[in-house]
Amino acid sequence: MKFTESFPIETFDALVIGAGGAGMRASLQLTEKGHKIAMISKVFPTRSHTVAAQGGVNAALGNVTPDKWEWHMYDTIKGSDFLGDQDAIEFMCQEASEIVRELEHFGVPFSRLDNGKIYQRAFGGQSLNYGEEQAYRTCAAADRTGHAILQSLYQQNLRLGTTFYDEYYAVDLLKNQDGDINGVLVMNIHDGKYKILQSPHILLATGGAGQVFRNNTNASINTGDGLGMVLRAGYPLQDMEFWQFHPTGVSGKGMLISEAVRGEGGKLRNSLGEAFMEKYAPRVKDLASRDVVARAIAIEVNEGRGCGPDKDYVLLDISHLPDEVITKRLPGIREISQTFLGIDPVEEPIHVYPTCHYMMGGIPTNIAGQVISPDQNGKQHPVKGLYAIGECACVSVHGANRLGGNSLLDIVVFGRKTALTIDEALTSSPAQHDATLNLTPVVKRLNRWLKQDDSKNDSISRIKKDLQLIMERGCGVFRDEPTMQTALEALEGIQARLEKVCISDFGNVFNLDRLAAYELENLVAIGYSTVVSALARTESRGAHSRVDYTERDDENWLKHTLYFSDNHRLTFKPVNLSPKHHDSVKPVPRVY
Ligand SMILES: Cc1cc2nc3c(=O)[nH]c(=O)nc-3n(C[C@H](O)[C@H](O)[C@H](O)COP(=O)(O)OP(=O)(O)OC[C@H]3O[C@@H](n4cnc5c(N)ncnc54)[C@H](O)[C@@H]3O)c2cc1C
Repeated sequence: MKFTESFPIETFDALVIGAGGAGMRASLQLTEKGHKIAMISKVFPTRSHTVAAQGGVNAALGNVTPDKWEWHMYDTIKGSDFLGDQDAIEFMCQEASEIVRELEHFGVPFSRLDNGKIYQRAFGGQSLNYGEEQAYRTCAAADRTGHAILQSLYQQNLRLGTTFYDEYYAVDLLKNQDGDINGVLVMNIHDGKYKILQSPHILLATGGAGQVFRNNTNASINTGDGLGMVLRAGYPLQDMEFWQFHPTGVSGKGMLISEAVRGEGGKLRNSLGEAFMEKYAPRVKDLASRDVVARAIAIEVNEGRGCGPDKDYVLLDISHLPDEVITKRLPGIREISQTFLGIDPVEEPIHVYPTCHYMMGGIPTNIAGQVISPDQNGKQHPVKGLYAIGECACVSVHGANRLGGNSLLDIVVFGRKTALTIDEALTSSPAQHDATLNLTPVVKRLNRWLKQDDSKNDSISRIKKDLQLIMERGCGVFRDEPTMQTALEALEGIQARLEKVCISDFGNVFNLDRLAAYELENLVAIGYSTVVSALARTESRGAHSRVDYTERDDENWLKHTLYFSDNHRLTFKPVNLSPKHHDSVKPVPRVY
């Protein structure tokens, strides 16, 4: 049975696609303002990946040492290797204290200091007084901060009556005859039925895409669907060459061992027992920025000082920490180590190796959360009715390297801000629903997989595994032109195999094959955007470490890449170096 261009339609003031911390903070604001919204999530909301965030959320509350948002801003710009937009970073750091107090009032059970104030821990790349001493800025609910935030936001949404479309998969954005975004095609995962949710305001909060790499800390749902939708709608992705490899993934498996472990005093050691970070970051050692620590581990292993029979990991030692610190502050980490490695970190060190963790790039937006796209003269304009927040967006507060604790902050700050932007638009002009949606492109795309003959069918999961390996080999912690060219050629093969996939079972039934094919199509698009952008950037900056161009090149590359999927085209846009209330932070060599 082929798709026709007719689906049931429901109308809303605004749609929020994604029920993680970003989407949930936005929907809360919009529902509170009295708008009729739909919150769409492909998994039950509290299974969204925010739930996995461990270490905490940054705000210069100054509960442990005196602190200032200006120092937080400086650290974030330096951490971003000067690629972050300074106006957006300034805004985020200024909002941080209020947004964390607001979370506390929503019910987030933060850990407490003895004086009753919110507990704050040390995280990498954070300093007092513009680089002098280690800051204690990361507000934590033990090592389950994301879980606490997501549950609290969900409960607040339920209290206010937000309408949830749980386990609905958003397939594609729909445009009206004027070419404006005015709806989204969704599939009910339970029964395989499709419908159109229509609104002139669509907010993407679909999270990251770490599944494009083989070893990663991300849930299997992190397939970059919002990014795929945006590319297919003709808009660009920004800075897709920048992927954060978290230094401490469980070796060979990828799950995260939070930076909180080093924040609480954990030490990295090689096979000689050396605390090797002293060599790479003499001042802050294990609490250097993530890109610096990930590279240090990769170098130790590449130079033969790795541990185990294959010398392919290093050790994270917390056996010297008091039992109380481990049980009270790091219970989840102990559990992960016991479950996946069979190691109790109280007695033995944890085996760790860098693992893909976070996507610094994404859908380009301004501070108001509007998606931005250039015209033919390169001038940037908001795309009418389209917004993006959270890990799927690139505003850009993380630049070339994100600091730990800044993503949970990003999602709530810009979740609230973007909801206020939509609220303002709806207040000045109530929602109009254009009946003339153009369904032809999406219907054509979906129908191409519905073939009668599935005898030569390729397995979607096999194609996905091959894609992940290609990306790991071609665009890992270290890259160079030959490895990336090989990856680019291999992606052609992956694309060709995906085109030939046949989804034979096409009734209105629960059909995971269909879902997997849609997700894989998005992952392939992300693979291309990553490799094409990384090949073009002939320098090393933040998490983008090229063996063939080892230095940062501000003269030519202090700019953002914008990737369009038609002909794998790239354009560029300048970095914003003009905060409103602070002097510009000038790019200097980055040492820790
Ligand atoms: C293991 C781990 C630990 C982390 N720890 C920290 C930390 O301590 N501090 C910190 O600051 N950051 C941390 N991060 C990063 C941070 O947690 C994430 O960047 C952030 O939570 C992302 O939130 P989000 O709302 O953008 O997306 P998510 O929470 O990933 O939510 C995405 C939502 O989109 C929905 N969705 C996606 N595609 C579709 C579709 N096609 N149709 C319908 N719905 C869709 C999903 O169902 C989900 O509801 C961590 C990340 C990981 C992986």
